[in-house]
Amino acid sequence: MTFRSLKLIDPLLRTLDELGYDEPTPVQKQAIPAVLAGRDLMAAAQTGTGKTAGFALPLLHRLTLEGAVEPLGVRCLVLAPTRELAEQVFNSFRKYGAHVPLRYGVAYGGVPIEPQVNKLRKGLDVLVATPGRLLDLQRQGALSLARLQTLVLDEADRMLDLGFAADLDAVFAALPAERQTLLFSATFPDAIRALAGRLLRDPLSVQA
Ligand code: AMP
Repeated sequence: MTFRSLKLIDPLLRTLDELGYDEPTPVQKQAIPAVLAGRDLMAAAQTGTGKTAGFALPLLHRLTLEGAVEPLGVRCLVLAPTRELAEQVFNSFRKYGAHVPLRYGVAYGGVPIEPQVNKLRKGLDVLVATPGRLLDLQRQGALSLARLQTLVLDEADRMLDLGFAADLDAVFAALPAERQTLLFSATFPDAIRALAGRLLRDPLSVQA
């Protein structure tokens, strides 16, 4: 299986050529067709498996082909447990999306909120955020999740370990019911299974 046989659009294939990625990793082989088809995912995948490209590439493909961003709108929201992971995922979207005309942003706490508010004004195709700062932005009316297409939970087990359960519930309450949800976690304790049961619809299970 090649990236070309997964039918990704040419600007993404060009980026993969430039990066020297010859073949999709096992997680990518499973995740990319499912995400392109709009399915929900429950993925057991650690860092180093290529999981980020596994969700970023098919989401960039769909965001490029379908629709456009509106002021304050966010089309794809990625929630991550720490500012380090949020930065890393944001940089991956910028890297993989180098040749598609989409807008990316990142937001986390511990830094001034105003630049983040300004960045959201025109809307973003992809926002990567930590749960607490995302809620602060939402409460300020800095963004609209009403037209959200896809929610990604990255390292969901760490988000629960860090005490984000209540923040996550508050975010979920603001999301449209009709959406795609992708859940990535290294471990699947009962709390993650319960979260998955509430959030995912007929998910495909993916193993690294
Ligand atoms: P991740 O698990 O998403 O943190 O990715 C781990 C590393 O693998 C990153 O440095 C990626 O740039 C790299 N990578 C992801 N997919 C591929 C691929 N198909 N071929 C080669 N390297 C890759």
